[in-house]
Amino acid sequence: MDENAQRAQPWDAKQVMYEALITSAIGSAKLAEELGMRHEQVLLSCKVSGVQDLVAVYRELAKRCDYPLHLGLTEAGMGTKGTVASSVALGILLQEGIGDTIRVSLTPQPGESRTQEVVIASEILQALGLRSFVPSVTACPGCGRTTSTTFQELAKQIDDFLRAQMPVWRAKYPGVETMKVAVMGCIVNGPGESKHADIGISLPGTGEAPAAPVFIDGQKAMTLRGENIAREFHQIVENYIEKRFGHVAETA
Ligand code: SF4
Repeated sequence: MDENAQRAQPWDAKQVMYEALITSAIGSAKLAEELGMRHEQVLLSCKVSGVQDLVAVYRELAKRCDYPLHLGLTEAGMGTKGTVASSVALGILLQEGIGDTIRVSLTPQPGESRTQEVVIASEILQALGLRSFVPSVTACPGCGRTTSTTFQELAKQIDDFLRAQMPVWRAKYPGVETMKVAVMGCIVNGPGESKHADIGISLPGTGEAPAAPVFIDGQKAMTLRGENIAREFHQIVENYIEKRFGHVAETA
């Protein structure tokens, strides 16, 4: 359509805003190329602060140009709200194959580290199965079968431990970031999930014998009992990593 022609139906304010953003981004990229930048040196960012707006703008942008696109929900907000909004917006677009780089923009809680943005961005990519950064820990939500917080504490300890080790393990144990660990709250339903993980443990639930079966590569490997289940499971995870991923570095 001739850009000076009048539309039979005027666009609503949102459509006008989307069009202005898209036209401006593509126009700026073309000007940059006219000034000497190579096509592949240009990456477009068209951040907005509403989830539906971001999705609409980037879908259209992806249709109308082949520049790489940088995704980010700007001014996403704080804490849970910012995390959920960013995850939903980026998740929809990435799932459609739209987006080449991402940024999560959170307002930090007082005293909170800025690195939380990076953690969430990497979790989004990992949850979508696009990249792996750290072994994933699957933990059940807990229910009437659980009376203690032991499985929650163990799941957190293992998750913290795996994350803390990654700067060293990334080089020492190539591939460890794809590992799956399961920490489940009872031995009625826990073993099923544990078997699907590389290594999993089902802690005793309400009224169950104080025993925690451990599954390695889908097979029951041992049963832990007593006060030191958490420490022993930690050690089992470390041994598993050394055995499965240690030789990769040696032979590389
Ligand atoms: S694994 Fe057991 S404790 Fe955990 S949610 Fe399922 S039934 Fe409840």
